[in-house]
Amino acid sequence: MSQQQAAIAVEQISPNALKVIQRLEDEGYSAYLVGGGVRDLLLGGKPKDFDVSTDATPEQVRQLFRNSRIIGRRFRIVHVLYGREVIEVTTFRGHHPQGGDGDSNKHSAVSDSGRLLRDNVYGSIEEDALRRDFTVNALYYQPSSDTILDFCGGLEDLEKRRLTLIGEPATRYREDPVRMLRAVRFCAKLNFEMSPGVVAPLDELAPLLHDIPPARLFDEVLKLFMSGAALATYRELLRYKLLGFLFPASNRILAQGDEVSEHFIAAMLRNTDLRIQQGKPVTPAFLYGALLWPSVRQQAEALVKQGESPVQARQQAGIASIEHQIQHTSIPRRFSTPMREIWDLQHRLENPRGPEHLLTLTRFRAAYDFLVLREEAGEETGGLGDWWTRYQEADEQARQELTGELRPSRPPRKRTRRNRRGTRRKFSDQVP
Ligand code: ATP
Ligand code: MG
Repeated sequence: MSQQQAAIAVEQISPNALKVIQRLEDEGYSAYLVGGGVRDLLLGGKPKDFDVSTDATPEQVRQLFRNSRIIGRRFRIVHVLYGREVIEVTTFRGHHPQGGDGDSNKHSAVSDSGRLLRDNVYGSIEEDALRRDFTVNALYYQPSSDTILDFCGGLEDLEKRRLTLIGEPATRYREDPVRMLRAVRFCAKLNFEMSPGVVAPLDELAPLLHDIPPARLFDEVLKLFMSGAALATYRELLRYKLLGFLFPASNRILAQGDEVSEHFIAAMLRNTDLRIQQGKPVTPAFLYGALLWPSVRQQAEALVKQGESPVQARQQAGIASIEHQIQHTSIPRRFSTPMREIWDLQHRLENPRGPEHLLTLTRFRAAYDFLVLREEAGEETGGLGDWWTRYQEADEQARQELTGELRPSRPPRKRTRRNRRGTRRKFSDQVP
């Protein structure tokens, strides 16, 4: 173990996290800031959240903070709530009985493939460090002494911007296959290199992701694509052949070399990163709607060839795509409903009857952004993305003229004007 005076900007730490640690120490427990918070502070970044690790049990923590609750089964942790901020407090995890068939007891359980089903055996801080995933995630900061405790060489890896698994890589992936996705996420977000041990088992062990509950993969997908480095993350997922375990249908289409889909996904993810940089909201419905779009589009085209009307075809393809996807990653209804609304609105925006009314729909903005992305990616949209951009900026008179423009050339698909006008929102400029 190495102990170092920390180069941490304490003022960057959430006062509530410091309060929690102080309180635990006052009561005679030891408590540290740990995980992504410490890692990001040392890298000079802004942590997303602050995790505290302590030798107090969840019940003891619960008793100290009125504003707290115990959550989780797989890992029991305590959430201490301060308004909208949540400080996650975990008790040091210890070693638990390994391997063996039917190895399961009240506190820990392992599946046949080695997956940890439950991990509630408590232990020392050293043991806790060894149970974490990557060395850079296993640094402990003690505010009262302003020191960092490093049990696994995390400081050196941080310095070299290298992601290293703690322990034997294959075993650690088998315990929790989601660590493969976490490896990609951290490398993309922190601009780290994977050390050879992190990469080597990926091909063989990636199929273990099939065993992960869809709800957990849904959460992980949001983390992958909503952390501000979505495009880089996506490229790494492709590079390590992991995308197919999250979005099998779209992955298949991308693998066929469908350029429109490639451009669309890349443009959407670049746009997502930009929005996060600018502090604008990003909705899972838009993200998921776009990630499934290649398959919706392909299925709809097939249905049209079989004689289905375009509107019906899209609707059926949308429903089928969602049904297929939730076998892999769940999609809560509060997101799948707006996803379908965005898809259904595509047809109406491409055939704008009563544009003033369409403008007032809740989903208009998202559907318009979606249409613009499709157009930028080279999809046949009759130039209506561009038309809507102009329509929204136009005054009364100009709007009438724009509406008039549509009439002679209906259906809009036949318009030839499509590529002549430069659109304002060029997402595709840098598409590879
Ligand atoms: P971020 O919050 O920026 O996504 P993080 O490293 O804080 O990154 P969390 O998911 O918040 O990640 O987890 C907090 C810490 O808990 C991690 O840093 C790591 O030490 C530990 N941890 C989380 N998930 C796992 C896992 N699947 N296996 C082992 N340790 C984990
Ligand atoms: Mg965290």
